Amino acid sequence: MPDTVTADPIPLSETGRRPVFDNSYARLPERLFARLPPTPVSAPRLLRLNTGLAEMLGLDPDWLASEAGVAMLAGNLVPPGAEPIAQAYAGHQFGHFNPSLGDGRAILLGEVVTPAGLRHDIQLKGSGPTPFSRRGDGRAAVGPVLREYIIGEAMAAFGIPTTRALAAVATGDHVFREDALPGAVLTRVATSHLRVGTFQYFAARRDNDALRVLVETAIARHDPAAAQATNPTLALLEGVVARQADLVARWMLVGFIHGVMNTDNCAISGETIDYGPCAFLDAYHPETVFSSIDQQGRYAYGNQPGIAHWNLARLAECLLPLIDADEETSLSLAQEALAGFAPRFGTAWRDGLLRKLGLTTVQDGDEDLVQDLLVRMAANQADFTLTFRRLADAAEAEVGDAAVRELFADPAAYDGWAVGWRARLAREPAGRAAAMRAVNPAFIPRNHLVEEALSAAVQRDDLAPFEDLLAVLARPFDDQPGRERFALPPRPEERVTATFCGT
Ligand code: AMP
Ligand code: MG
Repeated sequence: MPDTVTADPIPLSETGRRPVFDNSYARLPERLFARLPPTPVSAPRLLRLNTGLAEMLGLDPDWLASEAGVAMLAGNLVPPGAEPIAQAYAGHQFGHFNPSLGDGRAILLGEVVTPAGLRHDIQLKGSGPTPFSRRGDGRAAVGPVLREYIIGEAMAAFGIPTTRALAAVATGDHVFREDALPGAVLTRVATSHLRVGTFQYFAARRDNDALRVLVETAIARHDPAAAQATNPTLALLEGVVARQADLVARWMLVGFIHGVMNTDNCAISGETIDYGPCAFLDAYHPETVFSSIDQQGRYAYGNQPGIAHWNLARLAECLLPLIDADEETSLSLAQEALAGFAPRFGTAWRDGLLRKLGLTTVQDGDEDLVQDLLVRMAANQADFTLTFRRLADAAEAEVGDAAVRELFADPAAYDGWAVGWRARLAREPAGRAAAMRAVNPAFIPRNHLVEEALSAAVQRDDLAPFEDLLAVLARPFDDQPGRERFALPPRPEERVTATFCGT
C-alpha cells in the first residue's frame, strides 16, 4: 500500500482547477476533532462522478476525473489547502447513549464555498481508521457506497434536503464483513456534518465553551438570522426543530424510512444523513421496518416523527446551560421550542397529503378523508407510490379509477373512498392532475431495483444497471416511456424484506 501522500504532487498549472478549500471547522478548538489524513488505498478507480453536483459546487469535473482528482477522492492525495480531520461526536444509538462515537471511517477534507456563497463539507467516507474507529476497520464496501449514492441522488431529485454523493471510487482493496467485499470510498457533500450527537459529545463532558463554539458555528452555517435574535441559542433550537419537522414530513410523503434515526444521524442542517439500512415503502403500512438491526421497530415508518422529536429533546438538553442562566427559565423556553415540533410536523404532513390528493385548500372533513385513505391502503397492501401517482389520472377522468382500484387487495375499498374524494375534488379549481404529478413521484428507488443495481456492480463489476437507475431517478416526477418497469412494485419473488447497515 502506498504511503500517505500529503505533499503537493500536482503540477502548478493545475492549481486553478483543483478545489479551493476554506476549512472553518479545522480552525475551531482542537478538542472538536482529530487531525489525520485519510489512509491510502491500493488501486483507486472512479466508479461514478457527479458532474452536475461538482459544477454546482464550483469544482472542475475534469480535474476530479483526472488521476490527481481520483487520487484525492480515494484518499491517496491530500491536495494543498485541505486540512483533513475526523470530527468528534456522541450519540444515542437505539436509545442507548454512547459518549464517544465520532468519524470512525470518515475524514473531512475541507469545505468549499459555492459560487452562490454556500459553504459545503467535502468528506471522504470509508477512508480508513481514525481515533474514533473503536473496533471498526474505517472502511466501506462498494455496495453500501453505491446505495448511499443512489438514494441521496433520488432524495435530491425529490427536492428533499439531503447530503449528496460527489463521487464513488473503488479502492482495489477488500473489506471484510461476513464475506470479503470490494471496498470503496464515497465523497459526501453536506452543508455541514454537525449532528445532535456533536452537541451531546460536549454536553456529556460539561464543556460549555465547546457548546458555545458549536452554537456559533451552527448559526453561522444554518441559521444566520438567529444571530440577531434576542436569544440566539433558542432561535437555533427553534430552527432545528422546524427543519426536522419539515424533513420527516417530506420523507414520509414519499414513503421513506430512514432506518437508523440515532441522534448521531440527526443533522442540525435538516439534511437527511446516513443512508444505511434506509428503504422506501412499496405497500403502505405505518409499522413497516426494513432494517435488520431494528428488532423492536423503533424506527418504523410511522414512528419517525416521534423519534425526531425525541432526538430534538436530546439536543435541547445539551443547550440548556446556554439558553438561560436560570435553570427553570431555560427548561421552560426549551420545552416551548420543542412543543413547536408537533404542530409544524402536523401541518407539513397534512398539507403534503392534501396536495398529493389534488386538494389545494383545507376544508372540513379533509383530515378524515386522508386518514380514511391511509387506513384502507394499509388494510389492502396498496402500493404507496403508485396509489398516489395513479390518482392523478383518476382526478382527470373516472376511467382512471381502474388502475388505482387494482392496487387494493379488495378493490371495493378504493371505490368506497373515491366517492367522497370526487365530491371534495369538485370544490377545487379544475386542472389538478399536473400539480398532483409534480408531488407524487412515478419513480422511487425501490428496494428490489436498488438491490439489482448493487449486485450487478458488486458481483459482475457491471455498473450499467446502477447508471440506468440513476438516470430514471433523476426525473422522478416525469413519466418515462420505455422505463415503466422501474415504476412497478416488486413481484413476490423480487420482494426485499430486510436491508442491512453494511458497516
Ligand atoms: P453509523 O451507524 O454509520 O451511523 O455509524 C455509527 C458509528 O460507527 C459512527 O461513529 C461511525 O463512524 C462508526 N462506524 C461505522 N462503521 C465503521 C467502520 N467500518 N469502521 C469504523 N467506524 C465505523
Ligand atoms: Mg452515522
